[in-house]
Amino acid sequence: MFFDVSVKDIVDVLLVAALLYYFYRLMKESGSLNIFSGILVFVLLWVFVSRVLEMKLLGSIFDQMMSVGVLAFIVIFQDEIRRFFKTLGSHRHFKRVAEFFSKNGDVDDNQSDYLPIVMACMSMSQQKVGALIVIERNESLLEYAQTGERIDAEISQRLIETIFFKNAPLHDGAMLIQNGRISSAACILPVSHDLNIPKKLGLRHRSAKGVSELTDAIAIVVSEETGSISVAIGGKIRMGLTAQQLEGILAK
Ligand code: ATP
Ligand code: MG
Repeated sequence: MFFDVSVKDIVDVLLVAALLYYFYRLMKESGSLNIFSGILVFVLLWVFVSRVLEMKLLGSIFDQMMSVGVLAFIVIFQDEIRRFFKTLGSHRHFKRVAEFFSKNGDVDDNQSDYLPIVMACMSMSQQKVGALIVIERNESLLEYAQTGERIDAEISQRLIETIFFKNAPLHDGAMLIQNGRISSAACILPVSHDLNIPKKLGLRHRSAKGVSELTDAIAIVVSEETGSISVAIGGKIRMGLTAQQLEGILAK
């Protein structure tokens, strides 16, 4: 019977709706909303043609496309799917599971670590030297570290400034901080495709946002054009920070 609806069915529908909405939000943030609506239209068309109208030929073609479509979907939305599971895994309720598997839960313990970073950013901000510094937290930055030059040095203000010094061989790209050390420089980060980013922001800011969308890292940008300091965390970028504000964010 059509009207034979149980509580389970309602919960079922609500869950699917929530899942769709979650995916919609994820797509919107990563700027692939058009693909999302395209797929939605295709699925609706498929359901209409093969289930409602029961057109055999067109229906079977669509059926074939749907079975390949699942694979295509995974390939196209690789990043989004990864992010979906990452956000699910880093949700506060599930975090304990992750902590259980990684024995040392507290990584950033040394408070004095970030002070040289703040000092360097302040100095580079005054001299309008462009910089991009990414600090690893729980999720690994290894795949980005591999795109650059390995350094593995203690964090020091002068070393950071030397790396970003104009025309220095390693000034291009991002410097990564892993486990309280400068692990590498001149690294290539994923650029955010969010269409809502102000047009005046260039690739340095977009890649800071990009890496913070895909990982839980903190990305600090010193603008070469304006000298302003920005920080991207969790896909959100805060601009025009003072040294005190930066210190406050890093201290947390
Ligand atoms: P600024 O305010 O400093 O000009 P911006 O956001 O306008 O910053 P661009 O002017 O496009 O950015 O900055 C270009 C610099 O950003 C490049 O020289 C390079 O060092 C860095 N950069 C660009 N793309 C990437 C990337 N994908 N990963 C890491 N660094 C990048
Ligand atoms: Mg620029």
